[in-house]
This record gives sequence, structure tokens and C-alpha cells, in this order.
Amino acid sequence: MATERTLSIIKPDAVAKNVIGDIYSRFEKAGLQIVGAKMLHLSKEQAEGFYAEHKERGFFADLVGFMTSGPVMVQVLEGEGAIAKNRELMGATNPKEAAPGTIRADFASSIDANAAHGSDAPESAAREIRYFFQDGELCPRG
Ligand code: ADP
Ligand code: MG
Repeated sequence: MATERTLSIIKPDAVAKNVIGDIYSRFEKAGLQIVGAKMLHLSKEQAEGFYAEHKERGFFADLVGFMTSGPVMVQVLEGEGAIAKNRELMGATNPKEAAPGTIRADFASSIDANAAHGSDAPESAAREIRYFFQDGELCPRG
């Protein structure tokens, strides 16, 4: 499998639970490297732009409200099959359906406050990484 990059966000609920380090440790144990990271408190416009693909969905306003409710930790993960690997570490969108031991099973309390975001395909990963990071802000180890 090819080396990939994916965008990960530790959402406001998980930042508030003080589990950034626990989640980073899961990335590292899975062989993913953090090649860029920033803590941000998203504006409404930033959250709406990031989730533009969902703007017609009934939950959009709640999603934007939640994503702007506190700081988030945004990172670029790099490694073999990083996109699928991160989705596997996160677990299903609805924490009730997330496999035991996944980030969402361990830290999410609802489908809204579900602890983490991960890009779902190479195209969305490229777009989402560009949304938050300039090329010079990423530091691959080579
Ligand atoms: P994922 O984050 O697993 O890629 P989606 O891209 O489908 O999931 O949805 C983006 C985010 O929108 C989810 O992580 C979740 O926070 C929220 N969301 C999705 N579906 C619902 C829903 N039915 N009700 C409320 N919030 C939802
Ligand atoms: Mg998604």
C-alpha cells in the first residue's frame, strides 16, 4: 500500500476531555507519523467551509455549532494506507456502532460529539489538508 496523507481533527469534545495525547499515541502505535499540527478554535465560516459537502443535511447547523464550541486539534497523518488506517482507529461515525477499542467507542458520547474526524478518500484528504495547511507547514521525516 502506498504512503498517504490524511487530515485528522480531534473534535472539541475530545479536546475538552484532555485526551489529545492518548489519541496521538494511537496514531503513533499504528505507524502513522504526525507531519503537521495546529490547535484552532474554528470560526463559523471555517467550520461551514470545511463541512460544505454536508450543507444540505439536517444536522449541518448542529455540526457547525458543535465544531465551533471549543478548540480542536488539527493534524496531518502520514503513513502506509493512512486514510483507511485513521478511519479504522476512529471507528464508526455513530459511537454506538463503533468497534470496541476505537477512538469513538472510547471517547465519543453521541453522533454529534464523536471525538474525531478523518478524511474518507484521497481526494477529500488532499482538499482537507489544503484547507488547513500550507505546503511549508508540513514536516515529513523522509
Ligand atoms: P464521518 O465523520 O464518520 O466521516 P460524515 O462525514 O458522514 O461522518 O459526517 C460528518 C460529521 O457529521 C460526523 O462525524 C458527525 O459529527 C456529524 N453527523 C453525521 N451524521 C449525523 C447525524 N445523522 N446526526 C448528527 N450528526 C451527524
Ligand atoms: Mg466524513
